[in-house]
Amino acid sequence: MSRPTTAHIRLDAFRHNYRVAKQLHGGKALAVIKANAYGHGALHCAKAIEGEADGFAVACLEEALQLRKADILEPILLLEGFFEAIELPDIVAHDLWIVIHAQWQIDILLKANLSKPLHIWLKMDSGMHRVGLSPDEYAKAYARLKDHKDVATIVLMSHFANADNLDSQHTLQQSEVFHTTIYALNLPVHAQLSLANSAAILGWQKTQVLRERQHQWSRPGIMLYGANPIIQASQALVLKPVMQLTSKIIAIQNIDIGQSIGYGSLFTAARHTKVGVVACGYADGYPRAASTDTPVAVEGTLTRILGRVSMDMLFVDLTDVPNATIGSQVELWGNQVPANAVAKAAATISYELFCNVKRVHFQYYDASNI
Ligand SMILES: *Cc1c(COP(=O)(O)O)cnc(C)c1O
Repeated sequence: MSRPTTAHIRLDAFRHNYRVAKQLHGGKALAVIKANAYGHGALHCAKAIEGEADGFAVACLEEALQLRKADILEPILLLEGFFEAIELPDIVAHDLWIVIHAQWQIDILLKANLSKPLHIWLKMDSGMHRVGLSPDEYAKAYARLKDHKDVATIVLMSHFANADNLDSQHTLQQSEVFHTTIYALNLPVHAQLSLANSAAILGWQKTQVLRERQHQWSRPGIMLYGANPIIQASQALVLKPVMQLTSKIIAIQNIDIGQSIGYGSLFTAARHTKVGVVACGYADGYPRAASTDTPVAVEGTLTRILGRVSMDMLFVDLTDVPNATIGSQVELWGNQVPANAVAKAAATISYELFCNVKRVHFQYYDASNI
């Protein structure tokens, strides 16, 4: 018998969500599987849409090489490009695409004298002010790169800071900056563009933010894992959750009025309370901040976390789950409990919950031919 804490990963749901992203946006879609596919397992996810995906996006060379070693042949984009010149031979040898987001990268690239020209995605800072060339620098950089012998194609890209907030005007402003700047470049017709992350695909598809999408690349990430990043959305009806995190009840405590449980005695019973102890804690990635009242499901019944989450265990309220017993199945998030609900209770986002999952068993399922 082993510890029952398990992340169940439904690859058919992942494939479904990729198709939804592609269909909502139009054009081509790079499946963003950086950070081990947001904690879901990059190789499994890539294999689930192999032959169908237009390409993949990862954060660095190491993540890309892991995919190439597993014979993934689709285009792979390095979202921050290279960090040092020494990565360029591998980038060329493995046919990787790179984002160019800074002047120092252009300087290195133009001196590199490569054996094969590269596909580059030239990133504009249209208002997020994280990485990317300012609109002024952008025009100059494009002119330097477009006819250079080491540059095969240029995709023009930018990234939104607030697309998850439908009340913010920032997304429209960023789109305006981007489109005005590239208009002045006298691009060839059907130049390739890329703006949309999941939030833009889900929240801004009917607006002027995304134009001529049939010639664009979308870059869906979180939506592929079934979570809707839009702040105002209650549920993501078109998406299917991919990860279900489960464990079991390993002990039961009957607590009298006035007694407290766990570290810091954070929860004190106001009525006779049946408490279940679950084999899952913050060392598995369950957020410690999600103490008392966060939703959880036991044997299919919705209930709540009690007290402080500890490293290997947490408490759930079984008072109104009469059929709960030792060995009962607990869903921390997944189908009945949206990851977004747990994230909200912990003052974070589903992205961070998924990325933090560790130590647990991973079980993969694929109802093929879906
Ligand atoms: C991570 C990332 C994405 C995916 O974002 P989601 O919000 O997960 O859809 C898209 N583009 C870039 C540049 C990214 O870094």
